[in-house]
Amino acid sequence: MAGFIKNVLQQKCPKCKNGDVFQSNGNILTLKGPKMNEQCEHCQHKFEKEPGYFIGAMYMSYGLSIAEVVAAFIIWKIVGLPIENFIYVAVIILAALIFFNFRMARMIWMYLL
Ligand SMILES: [Zn+2]
Repeated sequence: MAGFIKNVLQQKCPKCKNGDVFQSNGNILTLKGPKMNEQCEHCQHKFEKEPGYFIGAMYMSYGLSIAEVVAAFIIWKIVGLPIENFIYVAVIILAALIFFNFRMARMIWMYLL
């Protein structure tokens, strides 16, 4: 399990664990999305096996977003901040993590299948 998390966070090829999956991580401030390599530079493993392969990753992304907002909500409650302001925090968190979630969702998806 620890190895799985490490591999996903390092964004390495699911087959050889050497090549990088993403060329760039994307930058929310410049609105540039993450760029993915088509195949592994080490073992030539093709990341997108077939068109639509990553549609399932959207569910992963959805799950990640929910988990992050719930975690933030719990912290918000523990700190005791006014609950009516939380919606703004939730929006900021989701916007800030959108590319991170995109990358992690695809990594988890590739490693699961
Ligand atoms: Zn590889």
